[in-house]
Amino acid sequence: MLPVVAIVGRPNVGKSTLFNRLLGERQAIVHDISGVTRDRHYGESFWNDRDFTVIDTGGYLPGQSDAIVSGIRAQAEIAIREADVIVFVTDVQKGISREDDTVADLLRRQDKPVILAANKSDNSEKALDAPEFYKLGFNDLFPVSALSGSGTGELLDRLVELFPDKESVESEEKWPKISIIGRPNVGKSSLINALLKDERCIVTDIAGTTRDSINSRLEYEGKTYTLIDTAGLRKRSRVHDNIEFYSMIRTEKSIRECDVAVILVDASRGFEVQDVRLLRIAEQFNKGMIIALNKWDLVKKETNTAKEFIDAIYQKVPNLKYVPVITISATNKLRIHRIIDECRIVLDEREKKIPTSRLNQFLKEITAERPLPFKRGRQLSIKYITQVKHKPPVFSFFMNMPRELPANYRRYIENKLREQFGFKGVPVTMVFKEK
Ligand code: GDP
Ligand code: GDP
Repeated sequence: MLPVVAIVGRPNVGKSTLFNRLLGERQAIVHDISGVTRDRHYGESFWNDRDFTVIDTGGYLPGQSDAIVSGIRAQAEIAIREADVIVFVTDVQKGISREDDTVADLLRRQDKPVILAANKSDNSEKALDAPEFYKLGFNDLFPVSALSGSGTGELLDRLVELFPDKESVESEEKWPKISIIGRPNVGKSSLINALLKDERCIVTDIAGTTRDSINSRLEYEGKTYTLIDTAGLRKRSRVHDNIEFYSMIRTEKSIRECDVAVILVDASRGFEVQDVRLLRIAEQFNKGMIIALNKWDLVKKETNTAKEFIDAIYQKVPNLKYVPVITISATNKLRIHRIIDECRIVLDEREKKIPTSRLNQFLKEITAERPLPFKRGRQLSIKYITQVKHKPPVFSFFMNMPRELPANYRRYIENKLREQFGFKGVPVTMVFKEK
């Protein structure tokens, strides 16, 4: 589980600008691969050899103009609950405002470390106003310009120092984590109960492992897993009585924490927009994925019902055809083990490492089958490929004019990569670099 950084502050101080700045290149890479523009309020980044997750709490509460104060309170609540370190953003050009005081009050009343970013310190003259913000009561104060990036390196250095020790983060739990997610009433609790009561699974509670989910240790066919259960918790927020909102935040958190997400769908209702949204989040975080169509007992079956159902899903998310779909019934205990079997496969695929020599043989074959196009009078040419990371897999392609590579050729490469090497249920990241 990566350390979490949450960005808070009143509107227009530069939270989302700073968010994008902190994500830096990673953000661009992820965006590049999918070819889809997304509203992004969280992402992963790294600095000084530490990986971490960043949340822009402002992004969760758009259009809050008539309710700035309650919006800010809700943001601070998310930050306090989710974060390991909080970055509190203010605007030196505007000075301390009443809303800044409100945020400061909330943040002072808790124990999480806070870094104050005196933003819009665009030059040394403006940075002179930054010390005024010590009045808010936080010692870690950094004049920064999110727009130009100046000062953000110093802020990041301090941020990383405040993270929990790498060892304690890494040794927390070593088993692969499975999250069962889905809209309300799709059958998450029923499925978890069915697994917990099943004689083929040995289950132990892990008390107090995380703040907002109940985790269990599950042993099945000689392997151990951590099952992240967000279903059981329906805690009401004191500030906003918005259960959907908080259940979404919690779902996102359990996706961030897991290695493989089981997206549970109510087959009696079909595959809906919210189901797509959950899949997209899991994809965004490069998690393993499987889709389980629950309540299959309620579906009227004819010869090809399952296939038609699955085809209809792939039609809605054509770039996710690599995600396995299975049909189950939690209440009738139909094929519930298949879920763990499929998770095992996806977990193994996610850990796979392909040797560079095989990748370059592969490169020869695919470019022979379909030559790279000409751009600006020169033929595009990929020199070599390496897998730079696994769990999740990331491939680097070294080539001339990477920006000119057409999207359809990129898709061709991904399809061929999957045809040859699998990666069932696993998003692969392909980075194209100039060489
Ligand atoms: P948010 O509402 O807190 O997320 O703020 P945004 O990131 O949307 O920024 C609000 C405005 O401030 C935008 O017009 C940004 O371009 C501008 N802004 C953000 N950071 C800086 C900065 O460091 N210097 C200056 N001059 N403007 C900035
Ligand atoms: P959750 O909100 O996702 O945790 O959903 P629950 O597990 O509480 O289930 C919601 C409702 O769907 C309950 O009435 C369950 O009995 C019912 N349900 C769950 N799984 C199945 C299933 O496989 N078949 C049928 N027919 N009903 C189911």
